[in-house]
Amino acid sequence: MSDEEIEKIYRLISEKYESNLKKFGVKKINLKAKNGNYTKDALVLVYLARDYPKTQAISKQELTEFVRKFYPNVSDVQQARHLAKQKGYNIISGTRGDINEKIAPASYKLLNLEYPYPSFKQDRRSGINAKDFEGLKKQYNYRCATCGSIENQPHNIRNNEITKLQAGHMNPSKPLVFGNIIPQCQVCNRPDRDRFIYDKTGRAIEIANSDDGKRVVERYLKKVSKNTKEYFLDLLKRLLKIK
Ligand SMILES: [Zn+2]
Repeated sequence: MSDEEIEKIYRLISEKYESNLKKFGVKKINLKAKNGNYTKDALVLVYLARDYPKTQAISKQELTEFVRKFYPNVSDVQQARHLAKQKGYNIISGTRGDINEKIAPASYKLLNLEYPYPSFKQDRRSGINAKDFEGLKKQYNYRCATCGSIENQPHNIRNNEITKLQAGHMNPSKPLVFGNIIPQCQVCNRPDRDRFIYDKTGRAIEIANSDDGKRVVERYLKKVSKNTKEYFLDLLKRLLKIK
C-alpha cells in the first residue's frame, strides 16, 4: 500500500469518524505519531478499511505482516482488539466469537464506520453529553436504577465504597446512546459484565445475547436438578422445533 493510498483511506475514516462515530465517544486515531511515523492503530484501521465500504475478514497474521513493513520488530499486532474494545471501532473478532457474524478464528473484520462496537463503554466524563446525563440522573433522583444506591453516598451493599453513577446500557448489544442508558452505580455497571438487558427501572428483564449472557444461563443450568435439566431440554426442543 502506498503512502497516498494510506492517506486516502485514512481521510475516509476521518470523515466517517466526524459524521458518525465521534458523537458516541469513539476515540480518534491519529495517522502519525509526533515522530512522523504512522501509528500502529492507524495502520491496522486503514488496512481493515482498505476497500471500504466493502470489508472482509483479515487474519491477524496478514495484519501483522502489514504493520511489520513499518515496524519490522513488531511481534503480534493486538491493535485490532484494542481498536474495538478500548477505542470503540466496530471490529469483530473470530476468536472472540461475536454473535452477529461468524468469521475465522484469529481474524478481524471491520463491520462499518457507522456505529461503535456494541459493548464499547465510552469515557464517562467526555463521552455522552455530560449535561444530558446530569438531567437523566436527576430523573432518577441520583440513584442507581438497579440497586438504588445514591450518588456520592456510601453504597447500599458495599458500605465502604462511595456510590458513583455511570451511564449503563439497557441493552448492551446496542450503542450507548440516550434511550439506551440508565444511571447505574459502579457495582451494577461492572465493565465487561454484559449479562442482562435492563428496563428503564433498572430491572434485568432478559439475558443479553452475549458471551456473558450465555455464561449466566450455563452457570444456573449446571446447578439445577436432573429433573429440571430434563424439563429444559424438552423446552428447548420445543422452542427450536427439534423432535
Ligand atoms: Zn447499583
